[in-house]
Amino acid sequence: MIDAKRLERRMTELARIGGSGTAVSRLGLSADEQRARDLVGAWLSAKGAQIRRDAAANLFARFAGDGEAVLVGSHLDSVPEGGRFDGALGVLCAVEALESLVDAKVKLRRPVEVVAWADEEGARFGVGLFGSAAAFGRLSPGVANRRDRDGVSIAEALRTLGERGDPAMARRDPTEFAAYLELHIEQGPRLEKAGLPLGVVSDIVGIYHARVAVRGRADHAGATVMTARADALAAASEVVLAVERIARGRPDAVGTVGEIAVRPGAKNVVPGECVFSLDLRAARDHDGLVREVLAFVTSIASSRGVEVSVDELARVPVTSLDPRIRDVLGRATKSVGVNAPEMVSGAGHDAQNPALSGVPTGMIFVRSTGGSHTPREFASVDDAARGAQALANSIRELAS
Ligand SMILES: [Zn+2]
Repeated sequence: MIDAKRLERRMTELARIGGSGTAVSRLGLSADEQRARDLVGAWLSAKGAQIRRDAAANLFARFAGDGEAVLVGSHLDSVPEGGRFDGALGVLCAVEALESLVDAKVKLRRPVEVVAWADEEGARFGVGLFGSAAAFGRLSPGVANRRDRDGVSIAEALRTLGERGDPAMARRDPTEFAAYLELHIEQGPRLEKAGLPLGVVSDIVGIYHARVAVRGRADHAGATVMTARADALAAASEVVLAVERIARGRPDAVGTVGEIAVRPGAKNVVPGECVFSLDLRAARDHDGLVREVLAFVTSIASSRGVEVSVDELARVPVTSLDPRIRDVLGRATKSVGVNAPEMVSGAGHDAQNPALSGVPTGMIFVRSTGGSHTPREFASVDDAARGAQALANSIRELAS
């Protein structure tokens, strides 16, 4: 049985690392993230797990067994001024699930590994899902040279933590794993609206990130007649509105322009250059969404006589989670009294890396309120304990 009191105590203890009040700033590959790993490692080592840290600073706590392992966990880093639950709750519930199985002397045939992935948020170096990408050989080449605002590279940050500075060495063979399970807060309002504590994730949306640069012509705002302008910001504005319109017209699609910069940036100068971000996500026909937006960008360039270049930063396909694991999680959530709906994740998760590497993967969502990536983010101990029990039941089924 899950010890809800112990779970609650540990939530508080973990939130203190890099935390103040309900805010947590525990950036990836920082000393605080390392302290969080040490704490989790100490809990599991006391239960007989073998603790290991890899070249990407991921923490693995292994309970011995035969055959392929069941891997279960989430991440310990946060965004700056984030909340106590994003990532951390998945690690805490994995720890609690394993402890409850050990306490109950449940005999597991397969090895079980609890993992705490490093730097999922990418808040410091701009590389999201860093640790899990390293472990499944999915890091982009040269990523270790990416630098934070202070000029510290990923390689240097890893060396500060006592590693060799080459995260690619963290790579493991995906066939070592029978399954990957991750519990995570929902980060959206659907479970709260439905009055349900848990959900089972069916798919993780495809994600496209790009930087778009529009080059027009900077001119005198008084002397340049309207018909003679090549206004980069006006062209970009048409794209911003088109992203909204196109995403609204497609099921399960969202599109956001969250950053925009205008040059030269003076009130009496026609904007000559405008650079903005694109974030396009969809659970279905993600490629079609990206194509439609890019076609609009091209048409605006020719109709307005501006030059446009698109720098693709990331493109992750839609990740469908394993039907068999979804069944296991469905049964496990039922066994704790929840009729968990299947739902699409609009946020990216570490689970994408094992799933895209062929490891049968599943995710449980726990109801959360107050938004996410903010100190208002909240999940109740009751809901978390139910999630942890469902996780324990799933591990038991998969590892027996
Ligand atoms: Zn997360």
